Amino acid sequence: MQRLDQQFIDNQWIPSRGERRLPVTDPYTEQVIAEVTAGDPADVAAAVAAAQRALPAWRELSGAQRAIYLDGFADSLTRRREELIRLSSTNNGKVLDEAAIDLDDAIACYRYYAGQARELDQRQGRLIALEMEGVEACCYHDPVGVVGLITPWNFPLVTSAWKLAPALAAGCTAVLKPSEVTPLPERALAEVALEIGLPQGVLNLLQGDGAGIGAPLAAHPGIDKVSFTGSNRVGEAVMRAAAERSIGVSLELGGKSPIIVMVDADPEQAADWVMAGIYFNAGQICSATSRLIVHEAVAEPLYAALAERIDALVLGNPLDADTDMGPLTSARQRENVRAYLAMAEQEGLLVVRDASHRELPGQGYFVAPTLYRDVPVESRLWREEIFGPVLCARSVTDENEAIALANDSEFGLAATVISGDSRRASRIGRQLQAGSVWLNSEQLVLPETGWGGFKRSGIGRELGPWGLSAYLEVKHLVGPADGGDDT
Ligand code: NAD
Repeated sequence: MQRLDQQFIDNQWIPSRGERRLPVTDPYTEQVIAEVTAGDPADVAAAVAAAQRALPAWRELSGAQRAIYLDGFADSLTRRREELIRLSSTNNGKVLDEAAIDLDDAIACYRYYAGQARELDQRQGRLIALEMEGVEACCYHDPVGVVGLITPWNFPLVTSAWKLAPALAAGCTAVLKPSEVTPLPERALAEVALEIGLPQGVLNLLQGDGAGIGAPLAAHPGIDKVSFTGSNRVGEAVMRAAAERSIGVSLELGGKSPIIVMVDADPEQAADWVMAGIYFNAGQICSATSRLIVHEAVAEPLYAALAERIDALVLGNPLDADTDMGPLTSARQRENVRAYLAMAEQEGLLVVRDASHRELPGQGYFVAPTLYRDVPVESRLWREEIFGPVLCARSVTDENEAIALANDSEFGLAATVISGDSRRASRIGRQLQAGSVWLNSEQLVLPETGWGGFKRSGIGRELGPWGLSAYLEVKHLVGPADGGDDT
Protein backbone atom coordinates (compact mmCIF):
# COMPACT_ATOMS: atom_id res chain seq x y z
CA MET A 1 0.00 0.00 0.00
CA GLN A 2 1.25 3.45 -0.95
CA ARG A 3 1.87 5.93 1.87
CA LEU A 4 1.38 9.44 0.56
CA ASP A 5 2.68 11.47 3.45
CA GLN A 6 4.87 13.85 1.52
CA GLN A 7 3.95 17.28 0.23
CA PHE A 8 5.27 18.84 -2.97
CA ILE A 9 6.81 22.18 -2.02
CA ASP A 10 9.56 24.06 -3.88
CA ASN A 11 9.92 21.15 -6.33
CA GLN A 12 10.72 18.72 -3.54
CA TRP A 13 8.74 16.02 -1.77
CA ILE A 14 8.97 16.81 1.91
CA PRO A 15 7.29 15.02 4.83
CA SER A 16 3.95 16.47 5.87
CA ARG A 17 3.78 17.91 9.39
CA GLY A 18 0.33 16.34 9.71
CA GLU A 19 -0.04 13.29 11.95
CA ARG A 20 -3.47 12.11 10.84
CA ARG A 21 -3.69 9.69 7.90
CA LEU A 22 -6.69 9.06 5.65
CA PRO A 23 -7.43 5.90 3.66
CA VAL A 24 -7.70 6.13 -0.14
CA THR A 25 -10.05 3.51 -1.53
CA ASP A 26 -10.64 1.76 -4.84
CA PRO A 27 -14.42 2.19 -5.08
CA TYR A 28 -14.84 -1.02 -7.11
CA THR A 29 -12.81 -3.43 -4.94
CA GLU A 30 -13.57 -1.43 -1.76
CA GLN A 31 -9.92 -2.04 -0.81
CA VAL A 32 -7.68 0.63 0.68
CA ILE A 33 -5.03 1.32 -1.97
CA ALA A 34 -3.15 4.13 -0.29
CA GLU A 35 -2.97 6.21 2.82
CA VAL A 36 -2.72 9.97 2.50
CA THR A 37 -1.74 12.58 5.03
CA ALA A 38 -4.56 14.82 6.22
CA GLY A 39 -2.05 17.68 6.07
CA ASP A 40 -1.29 20.42 8.53
CA PRO A 41 -1.39 24.24 8.59
CA ALA A 42 2.44 24.16 8.75
CA ASP A 43 2.44 22.52 5.30
CA VAL A 44 0.28 25.39 4.05
CA ALA A 45 2.66 27.97 5.50
CA ALA A 46 5.66 26.33 3.82
CA ALA A 47 3.89 26.01 0.46
CA VAL A 48 2.64 29.60 0.48
CA ALA A 49 6.13 30.86 1.35
CA ALA A 50 7.56 28.87 -1.58
CA ALA A 51 4.93 30.28 -3.96
CA GLN A 52 5.68 33.81 -2.71
CA ARG A 53 9.42 33.36 -3.35
CA ALA A 54 8.72 32.06 -6.85
CA LEU A 55 6.31 34.83 -7.81
CA PRO A 56 8.66 37.72 -8.79
CA ALA A 57 10.62 35.70 -11.37
CA TRP A 58 7.58 33.86 -12.73
CA ARG A 59 5.51 36.99 -13.23
CA GLU A 60 8.45 38.65 -15.04
CA LEU A 61 8.51 35.95 -17.73
CA SER A 62 6.68 36.84 -20.91
CA GLY A 63 3.45 35.03 -21.65
CA ALA A 64 5.26 33.25 -24.48
CA GLN A 65 7.86 31.92 -22.04
CA ARG A 66 5.19 30.66 -19.65
CA ALA A 67 3.40 29.09 -22.60
CA ILE A 68 6.36 26.73 -23.10
CA TYR A 69 5.69 25.23 -19.66
CA LEU A 70 1.95 24.96 -20.30
CA ASP A 71 2.63 23.11 -23.54
CA GLY A 72 5.01 20.99 -21.45
CA PHE A 73 2.13 20.01 -19.14
CA ALA A 74 0.02 19.04 -22.15
CA ASP A 75 2.85 17.02 -23.73
CA SER A 76 3.81 15.23 -20.54
CA LEU A 77 0.20 14.33 -19.64
CA THR A 78 -0.24 13.02 -23.19
CA ARG A 79 2.82 10.77 -22.77
CA ARG A 80 1.39 9.42 -19.49
CA ARG A 81 -2.08 8.99 -20.96
CA GLU A 82 -2.57 5.23 -20.52
CA GLU A 83 -1.10 5.16 -17.01
CA LEU A 84 -3.19 8.13 -15.87
CA ILE A 85 -6.45 6.83 -17.30
CA ARG A 86 -6.04 3.58 -15.34
CA LEU A 87 -5.00 5.41 -12.20
CA SER A 88 -7.96 7.76 -12.36
CA SER A 89 -10.31 4.86 -13.04
CA THR A 90 -8.96 2.93 -10.05
CA ASN A 91 -9.07 5.85 -7.61
CA ASN A 92 -12.34 7.28 -8.90
CA GLY A 93 -14.46 4.41 -10.18
CA LYS A 94 -14.72 6.06 -13.59
CA VAL A 95 -15.09 3.79 -16.59
CA LEU A 96 -12.12 4.07 -18.93
CA ASP A 97 -13.89 6.40 -21.39
CA GLU A 98 -14.84 8.77 -18.58
CA ALA A 99 -11.30 8.75 -17.21
CA ALA A 100 -10.04 9.49 -20.74
CA ILE A 101 -12.35 12.50 -20.96
CA ASP A 102 -11.07 13.81 -17.61
CA LEU A 103 -7.51 13.59 -18.92
CA ASP A 104 -8.08 14.71 -22.52
CA ASP A 105 -10.10 17.77 -21.47
CA ALA A 106 -7.31 18.64 -19.04
CA ILE A 107 -4.71 18.35 -21.82
CA ALA A 108 -6.84 20.55 -24.11
CA CYS A 109 -7.05 23.12 -21.31
CA TYR A 110 -3.25 23.34 -20.79
CA ARG A 111 -2.84 23.66 -24.55
CA TYR A 112 -5.51 26.37 -24.79
CA TYR A 113 -3.99 28.48 -22.01
CA ALA A 114 -0.55 28.20 -23.62
CA GLY A 115 -2.19 30.06 -26.53
CA GLN A 116 -3.86 32.52 -24.16
CA ALA A 117 -0.51 33.22 -22.45
CA ARG A 118 1.05 34.10 -25.83
CA GLU A 119 -1.91 36.30 -26.66
CA LEU A 120 -1.60 38.08 -23.33
CA ASP A 121 1.72 39.52 -24.53
CA GLN A 122 -0.12 41.23 -27.39
CA ARG A 123 -2.62 42.79 -25.00
CA GLN A 124 -0.03 44.37 -22.68
CA GLY A 125 0.31 48.16 -22.96
CA ARG A 126 -2.55 48.62 -25.42
CA LEU A 127 -3.65 52.22 -25.84
CA ILE A 128 -7.19 53.05 -24.81
CA ALA A 129 -9.24 55.46 -26.93
CA LEU A 130 -9.93 58.59 -24.83
CA GLU A 131 -12.32 61.55 -25.22
CA MET A 132 -9.87 63.89 -23.52
CA GLU A 133 -7.13 65.35 -25.70
CA GLY A 134 -3.47 65.49 -24.69
CA VAL A 135 -3.80 62.47 -22.41
CA GLU A 136 -2.72 58.91 -23.07
CA ALA A 137 -3.80 55.77 -21.26
CA CYS A 138 -2.62 52.21 -21.73
CA CYS A 139 -3.75 49.02 -20.12
CA TYR A 140 -1.71 46.21 -18.52
CA HIS A 141 -2.73 42.90 -17.03
CA ASP A 142 -0.78 41.82 -13.95
CA PRO A 143 -1.08 38.47 -12.19
CA VAL A 144 -3.20 38.46 -9.04
CA GLY A 145 -0.33 36.88 -7.09
CA VAL A 146 -0.22 33.62 -5.11
CA VAL A 147 -3.41 31.64 -5.60
CA GLY A 148 -4.95 28.80 -3.61
CA LEU A 149 -6.67 26.19 -5.79
CA ILE A 150 -9.03 23.68 -4.17
CA THR A 151 -10.56 20.83 -6.19
CA PRO A 152 -13.22 18.13 -5.70
CA TRP A 153 -13.04 14.39 -6.33
CA ASN A 154 -15.33 13.92 -9.32
CA PHE A 155 -13.03 15.12 -12.16
CA PRO A 156 -9.62 15.61 -10.54
CA LEU A 157 -7.51 16.26 -13.64
CA VAL A 158 -9.90 18.57 -15.43
CA THR A 159 -11.00 20.62 -12.43
CA SER A 160 -7.35 21.22 -11.48
CA ALA A 161 -6.43 22.07 -15.10
CA TRP A 162 -9.20 24.68 -15.32
CA LYS A 163 -7.56 26.50 -12.40
CA LEU A 164 -3.88 25.77 -12.71
CA ALA A 165 -3.49 26.38 -16.46
CA PRO A 166 -4.97 29.92 -16.50
CA ALA A 167 -3.30 30.79 -13.17
CA LEU A 168 0.15 29.88 -14.50
CA ALA A 169 -0.60 31.53 -17.87
CA ALA A 170 -1.46 34.76 -16.04
CA GLY A 171 1.83 34.71 -14.10
CA CYS A 172 0.43 33.58 -10.75
CA THR A 173 2.12 30.96 -8.59
CA ALA A 174 -0.05 28.32 -6.99
CA VAL A 175 -0.79 26.06 -4.07
CA LEU A 176 -3.04 23.27 -5.30
CA LYS A 177 -5.09 21.12 -2.92
CA PRO A 178 -6.66 18.00 -4.46
CA SER A 179 -9.52 16.19 -2.78
CA GLU A 180 -8.40 13.74 -0.11
CA VAL A 181 -10.81 11.21 -1.67
CA THR A 182 -8.91 11.11 -5.00
CA PRO A 183 -5.36 12.33 -4.36
CA LEU A 184 -3.69 9.99 -6.85
CA PRO A 185 -4.36 11.53 -10.31
CA GLU A 186 -3.37 15.10 -9.36
CA ARG A 187 -0.08 13.91 -7.82
CA ALA A 188 1.01 13.34 -11.39
CA LEU A 189 1.03 17.14 -11.84
CA ALA A 190 3.94 17.41 -9.40
CA GLU A 191 5.82 14.73 -11.34
CA VAL A 192 5.10 16.66 -14.54
CA ALA A 193 6.38 19.89 -12.97
CA LEU A 194 9.69 18.17 -12.20
CA GLU A 195 9.87 16.57 -15.61
CA ILE A 196 9.36 19.82 -17.54
CA GLY A 197 11.65 21.85 -15.27
CA LEU A 198 8.96 24.18 -13.96
CA PRO A 199 10.80 26.71 -11.76
CA GLN A 200 10.66 25.72 -8.11
CA GLY A 201 7.78 27.06 -6.06
CA VAL A 202 5.57 27.87 -9.06
CA LEU A 203 3.34 24.86 -8.36
CA ASN A 204 3.06 23.46 -4.84
CA LEU A 205 0.77 20.52 -4.22
CA LEU A 206 -0.63 19.74 -0.80
CA GLN A 207 -2.53 16.58 0.04
CA GLY A 208 -4.99 16.67 2.86
CA ASP A 209 -8.54 17.29 3.95
CA GLY A 210 -10.51 20.45 4.69
CA ALA A 211 -9.29 20.77 8.27
CA GLY A 212 -5.65 19.96 7.52
CA ILE A 213 -5.15 21.96 4.32
CA GLY A 214 -8.34 23.43 2.79
CA ALA A 215 -9.45 25.78 5.55
CA PRO A 216 -5.90 26.97 6.49
CA LEU A 217 -5.18 27.59 2.80
CA ALA A 218 -8.33 29.68 2.26
CA ALA A 219 -7.50 31.71 5.39
CA HIS A 220 -3.74 32.12 4.86
CA PRO A 221 -2.72 35.80 4.69
CA GLY A 222 -0.21 35.07 1.91
CA ILE A 223 -2.93 33.88 -0.48
CA ASP A 224 -4.16 36.58 -2.87
CA LYS A 225 -7.10 34.69 -4.36
CA VAL A 226 -8.87 31.37 -3.84
CA SER A 227 -10.43 29.37 -6.62
CA PHE A 228 -12.65 26.60 -5.34
CA THR A 229 -14.70 23.85 -6.95
CA GLY A 230 -16.91 21.74 -4.74
CA SER A 231 -20.03 21.84 -2.62
CA ASN A 232 -22.00 24.96 -1.67
CA ARG A 233 -21.45 24.29 2.02
CA VAL A 234 -17.66 24.38 1.73
CA GLY A 235 -17.69 27.06 -0.99
CA GLU A 236 -19.52 29.38 1.38
CA ALA A 237 -16.95 28.69 4.13
CA VAL A 238 -14.16 29.52 1.66
CA MET A 239 -15.94 32.74 0.73
CA ARG A 240 -16.29 33.72 4.38
CA ALA A 241 -12.55 33.15 4.91
CA ALA A 242 -11.80 35.27 1.83
CA ALA A 243 -14.18 37.98 3.03
CA GLU A 244 -12.20 38.27 6.28
CA ARG A 245 -9.29 39.54 4.17
CA SER A 246 -11.22 41.15 1.27
CA ILE A 247 -9.60 38.91 -1.34
CA GLY A 248 -11.27 37.54 -4.44
CA VAL A 249 -12.80 34.10 -4.90
CA SER A 250 -13.93 32.06 -7.86
CA LEU A 251 -16.50 29.45 -6.93
CA GLU A 252 -17.72 26.55 -9.05
CA LEU A 253 -20.45 24.95 -6.99
CA GLY A 254 -23.42 22.67 -7.32
CA GLY A 255 -26.17 22.30 -9.88
CA LYS A 256 -29.63 20.85 -10.53
CA SER A 257 -29.65 21.31 -14.25
CA PRO A 258 -32.72 20.85 -16.46
CA ILE A 259 -32.97 19.01 -19.76
CA ILE A 260 -35.98 20.13 -21.79
CA VAL A 261 -37.46 17.83 -24.42
CA MET A 262 -39.97 19.64 -26.63
CA VAL A 263 -43.00 18.26 -28.45
CA ASP A 264 -41.18 18.16 -31.80
CA ALA A 265 -38.20 16.12 -30.52
CA ASP A 266 -37.46 12.59 -31.69
CA PRO A 267 -37.84 10.55 -28.46
CA GLU A 268 -35.22 7.99 -29.47
CA GLN A 269 -32.56 10.63 -30.17
CA ALA A 270 -33.62 12.61 -27.11
CA ALA A 271 -33.27 9.49 -24.95
CA ASP A 272 -29.58 9.18 -25.91
CA TRP A 273 -28.88 12.76 -24.84
CA VAL A 274 -30.90 12.40 -21.64
CA MET A 275 -28.93 9.25 -20.74
CA ALA A 276 -25.57 10.92 -21.35
CA GLY A 277 -26.67 13.94 -19.31
CA ILE A 278 -27.39 12.02 -16.12
CA TYR A 279 -25.70 8.60 -16.09
CA PHE A 280 -22.26 9.77 -17.31
CA ASN A 281 -19.79 9.36 -14.43
CA ALA A 282 -22.67 7.75 -12.49
CA GLY A 283 -24.28 11.18 -12.22
CA GLN A 284 -21.37 12.60 -10.23
CA ILE A 285 -20.97 15.67 -12.36
CA CYS A 286 -21.95 19.19 -11.38
CA SER A 287 -23.60 19.80 -14.76
CA ALA A 288 -25.64 16.56 -14.67
CA THR A 289 -29.02 17.27 -16.24
CA SER A 290 -30.91 15.69 -13.37
CA ARG A 291 -34.32 17.34 -13.99
CA LEU A 292 -36.05 16.08 -17.12
CA ILE A 293 -38.78 18.43 -18.34
CA VAL A 294 -40.66 16.78 -21.16
CA HIS A 295 -43.64 17.84 -23.26
CA GLU A 296 -46.61 15.65 -22.33
CA ALA A 297 -47.07 14.51 -25.94
CA VAL A 298 -43.65 12.80 -26.02
CA ALA A 299 -43.39 11.83 -22.35
CA GLU A 300 -44.58 8.21 -22.68
CA PRO A 301 -42.38 7.26 -25.67
CA LEU A 302 -39.43 9.02 -24.00
CA TYR A 303 -39.86 7.16 -20.69
CA ALA A 304 -40.13 3.89 -22.62
CA ALA A 305 -36.95 4.65 -24.60
CA LEU A 306 -35.13 5.59 -21.38
CA ALA A 307 -36.24 2.43 -19.57
CA GLU A 308 -34.89 0.34 -22.43
CA ARG A 309 -31.55 2.13 -22.35
CA ILE A 310 -31.27 2.01 -18.55
CA ASP A 311 -31.86 -1.75 -18.63
CA ALA A 312 -29.06 -2.09 -21.19
CA LEU A 313 -26.47 -0.24 -19.06
CA VAL A 314 -23.70 -2.58 -17.90
CA LEU A 315 -22.57 -1.90 -14.33
CA GLY A 316 -19.30 -3.44 -13.26
CA ASN A 317 -15.53 -3.15 -13.07
CA PRO A 318 -14.66 0.30 -14.44
CA LEU A 319 -11.44 -1.11 -15.89
CA ASP A 320 -13.43 -3.47 -18.17
CA ALA A 321 -13.90 -1.94 -21.61
CA ASP A 322 -17.55 -3.07 -21.82
CA THR A 323 -18.64 -1.47 -18.53
CA ASP A 324 -20.97 1.52 -19.00
CA MET A 325 -21.29 2.70 -15.42
CA GLY A 326 -18.87 2.29 -12.53
CA PRO A 327 -19.45 2.58 -8.79
CA LEU A 328 -19.82 5.89 -7.00
CA THR A 329 -16.49 7.29 -5.89
CA SER A 330 -16.86 6.72 -2.16
CA ALA A 331 -18.93 4.82 0.39
CA ARG A 332 -19.91 8.20 1.79
CA GLN A 333 -21.27 9.39 -1.55
CA ARG A 334 -23.24 6.16 -1.88
CA GLU A 335 -24.78 6.85 1.54
CA ASN A 336 -25.68 10.39 0.44
CA VAL A 337 -27.45 9.07 -2.65
CA ARG A 338 -29.16 6.24 -0.77
CA ALA A 339 -30.60 8.80 1.64
CA TYR A 340 -32.36 10.46 -1.32
CA LEU A 341 -33.62 7.09 -2.58
CA ALA A 342 -35.10 6.39 0.87
CA MET A 343 -36.77 9.82 0.78
CA ALA A 344 -38.23 9.00 -2.64
CA GLU A 345 -39.76 5.83 -1.22
CA GLN A 346 -41.24 7.75 1.70
CA GLU A 347 -42.67 10.35 -0.65
CA GLY A 348 -44.11 7.58 -2.84
CA LEU A 349 -42.43 8.82 -6.04
CA LEU A 350 -43.40 6.97 -9.20
CA VAL A 351 -40.56 4.71 -10.29
CA VAL A 352 -39.75 4.02 -13.93
CA ARG A 353 -36.49 2.28 -13.10
CA ASP A 354 -34.58 1.67 -9.85
CA ALA A 355 -32.65 -1.04 -8.01
CA SER A 356 -35.66 -3.37 -8.10
CA HIS A 357 -35.15 -3.68 -11.87
CA ARG A 358 -31.61 -5.05 -11.79
CA GLU A 359 -29.03 -6.91 -9.76
CA LEU A 360 -26.10 -4.80 -8.63
CA PRO A 361 -22.53 -6.15 -8.79
CA GLY A 362 -21.53 -8.03 -5.63
CA GLN A 363 -18.85 -5.49 -4.71
CA GLY A 364 -18.27 -1.77 -5.14
CA TYR A 365 -20.16 1.37 -4.16
CA PHE A 366 -22.87 0.96 -6.78
CA VAL A 367 -26.23 2.66 -7.00
CA ALA A 368 -28.68 1.53 -9.66
CA PRO A 369 -29.46 4.01 -12.43
CA THR A 370 -32.80 5.39 -11.30
CA LEU A 371 -35.63 7.29 -13.03
CA TYR A 372 -38.65 8.79 -11.26
CA ARG A 373 -41.54 10.37 -13.17
CA ASP A 374 -44.16 12.99 -12.28
CA VAL A 375 -41.98 14.17 -9.43
CA PRO A 376 -43.64 17.00 -7.47
CA VAL A 377 -41.77 20.30 -7.62
CA GLU A 378 -41.74 20.45 -3.81
CA SER A 379 -39.89 17.14 -3.55
CA ARG A 380 -36.32 17.45 -2.28
CA LEU A 381 -35.33 15.09 -5.07
CA TRP A 382 -36.55 17.65 -7.62
CA ARG A 383 -34.85 20.59 -5.94
CA GLU A 384 -31.57 19.36 -4.44
CA GLU A 385 -28.35 18.18 -6.03
CA ILE A 386 -28.11 14.42 -5.51
CA PHE A 387 -24.78 13.85 -7.31
CA GLY A 388 -25.62 10.31 -8.33
CA PRO A 389 -27.39 8.40 -11.13
CA VAL A 390 -30.87 9.65 -10.23
CA LEU A 391 -33.08 11.36 -12.79
CA CYS A 392 -36.33 13.11 -11.86
CA ALA A 393 -38.87 13.82 -14.61
CA ARG A 394 -42.01 15.95 -15.02
CA SER A 395 -44.16 16.69 -18.03
CA VAL A 396 -45.34 20.12 -19.20
CA THR A 397 -47.89 21.34 -21.70
CA ASP A 398 -45.97 24.10 -23.49
CA GLU A 399 -42.73 25.95 -24.02
CA ASN A 400 -43.34 28.71 -21.49
CA GLU A 401 -44.17 26.24 -18.75
CA ALA A 402 -40.96 24.36 -19.58
CA ILE A 403 -38.86 27.52 -19.32
CA ALA A 404 -40.48 28.61 -16.05
CA LEU A 405 -39.98 25.16 -14.53
CA ALA A 406 -36.36 25.00 -15.72
CA ASN A 407 -35.59 28.38 -14.14
CA ASP A 408 -37.39 27.54 -10.89
CA SER A 409 -34.22 26.44 -9.12
CA GLU A 410 -31.69 27.99 -6.78
CA PHE A 411 -28.99 26.70 -9.14
CA GLY A 412 -28.09 27.78 -12.68
CA LEU A 413 -25.06 25.88 -13.90
CA ALA A 414 -26.15 24.19 -17.12
CA ALA A 415 -29.13 23.12 -19.25
CA THR A 416 -29.93 21.15 -22.38
CA VAL A 417 -32.72 21.85 -24.88
CA ILE A 418 -33.88 19.24 -27.37
CA SER A 419 -36.24 20.23 -30.16
CA GLY A 420 -36.74 19.28 -33.81
CA ASP A 421 -36.68 23.01 -34.59
CA SER A 422 -33.22 24.45 -33.99
CA ARG A 423 -34.56 28.03 -33.87
CA ARG A 424 -36.98 27.05 -31.15
CA ALA A 425 -34.18 25.30 -29.22
CA SER A 426 -32.08 28.42 -29.38
CA ARG A 427 -35.04 30.67 -28.41
CA ILE A 428 -35.63 28.54 -25.31
CA GLY A 429 -31.91 28.38 -24.57
CA ARG A 430 -31.67 32.18 -24.54
CA GLN A 431 -34.28 32.34 -21.79
CA LEU A 432 -32.64 29.84 -19.44
CA GLN A 433 -30.67 31.00 -16.42
CA ALA A 434 -27.59 28.83 -16.85
CA GLY A 435 -23.92 29.34 -17.70
CA SER A 436 -23.82 26.56 -20.31
CA VAL A 437 -26.78 25.63 -22.49
CA TRP A 438 -26.47 22.73 -24.92
CA LEU A 439 -28.82 22.61 -27.89
CA ASN A 440 -29.60 19.24 -29.47
CA SER A 441 -26.33 17.71 -28.34
CA GLU A 442 -24.51 15.99 -25.54
CA GLN A 443 -22.65 18.10 -23.03
CA LEU A 444 -19.82 19.57 -25.05
CA VAL A 445 -17.25 21.20 -22.82
CA LEU A 446 -14.85 23.30 -24.89
CA PRO A 447 -11.84 25.23 -23.60
CA GLU A 448 -12.87 28.30 -25.60
CA THR A 449 -16.30 28.63 -23.97
CA GLY A 450 -16.78 29.68 -20.36
CA TRP A 451 -17.80 27.44 -17.46
CA GLY A 452 -19.65 28.60 -14.39
CA GLY A 453 -23.04 29.25 -12.96
CA PHE A 454 -25.86 31.67 -12.39
CA LYS A 455 -27.37 31.98 -8.92
CA ARG A 456 -26.01 29.55 -6.28
CA SER A 457 -24.00 27.57 -8.84
CA GLY A 458 -21.06 29.85 -8.33
CA ILE A 459 -19.20 33.07 -8.82
CA GLY A 460 -17.06 33.82 -11.87
CA ARG A 461 -16.21 31.77 -14.94
CA GLU A 462 -13.55 29.24 -15.76
CA LEU A 463 -12.31 28.46 -19.27
CA GLY A 464 -12.15 30.80 -22.23
CA PRO A 465 -10.64 34.27 -21.87
CA TRP A 466 -12.82 34.73 -18.74
CA GLY A 467 -10.89 31.92 -17.04
CA LEU A 468 -7.66 33.85 -17.59
CA SER A 469 -9.16 37.16 -16.42
CA ALA A 470 -9.94 35.49 -13.09
CA TYR A 471 -6.17 35.48 -12.38
CA LEU A 472 -5.38 38.96 -13.70
CA GLU A 473 -5.56 42.44 -12.25
CA VAL A 474 -6.23 45.22 -14.75
CA LYS A 475 -3.92 48.21 -14.47
CA HIS A 476 -3.92 51.53 -16.34
CA LEU A 477 -1.03 53.90 -16.88
CA VAL A 478 -2.36 57.38 -17.56
CA GLY A 479 -0.37 60.53 -18.34
CA PRO A 480 0.36 63.29 -20.86
CA ALA A 481 0.21 62.13 -24.46
CA ASP A 482 4.00 62.42 -24.80
CA GLY A 483 4.47 60.38 -21.59
CA GLY A 484 5.81 57.45 -23.63
CA ASP A 485 5.25 53.76 -23.43
CA ASP A 486 8.29 51.59 -22.94
CA THR A 487 6.77 48.24 -23.84
P1 NAD B 1 -16.50 19.34 -1.10
O1 NAD B 1 -16.99 20.74 -1.03
O2 NAD B 1 -16.78 18.41 0.00
O3 NAD B 1 -14.88 19.36 -1.23
C1 NAD B 1 -14.23 20.10 -2.23
C2 NAD B 1 -12.82 20.38 -1.78
O4 NAD B 1 -12.85 21.26 -0.65
C3 NAD B 1 -12.04 19.15 -1.33
O5 NAD B 1 -10.70 19.28 -1.78
C4 NAD B 1 -12.11 19.24 0.19
O6 NAD B 1 -11.05 18.61 0.86
C5 NAD B 1 -12.03 20.74 0.39
N1 NAD B 1 -12.54 21.23 1.67
C6 NAD B 1 -13.35 20.60 2.56
N2 NAD B 1 -13.60 21.40 3.62
C7 NAD B 1 -12.96 22.57 3.39
C8 NAD B 1 -12.86 23.81 4.09
N3 NAD B 1 -13.49 24.01 5.26
N4 NAD B 1 -12.16 24.82 3.53
C9 NAD B 1 -11.55 24.66 2.33
N5 NAD B 1 -11.58 23.50 1.63
C10 NAD B 1 -12.28 22.47 2.15
O7 NAD B 1 -17.01 18.81 -2.51
P2 NAD B 1 -16.81 17.36 -3.13
O8 NAD B 1 -17.69 16.44 -2.37
O9 NAD B 1 -15.36 17.05 -3.25
O10 NAD B 1 -17.39 17.57 -4.63
C11 NAD B 1 -18.73 17.49 -4.91
C12 NAD B 1 -19.33 18.86 -5.08
O11 NAD B 1 -18.56 19.61 -6.01
C13 NAD B 1 -20.73 18.84 -5.66
O12 NAD B 1 -21.56 19.73 -4.95
C14 NAD B 1 -20.55 19.34 -7.09
O13 NAD B 1 -21.65 19.95 -7.65
C15 NAD B 1 -19.41 20.26 -6.95
N6 NAD B 1 -18.71 20.42 -8.23
C16 NAD B 1 -18.91 21.57 -8.94
C17 NAD B 1 -18.30 21.74 -10.18
C18 NAD B 1 -18.54 22.99 -11.00
O14 NAD B 1 -17.82 23.22 -11.96
N7 NAD B 1 -19.51 23.81 -10.69
C19 NAD B 1 -17.46 20.75 -10.67
C20 NAD B 1 -17.26 19.60 -9.92
C21 NAD B 1 -17.89 19.45 -8.68
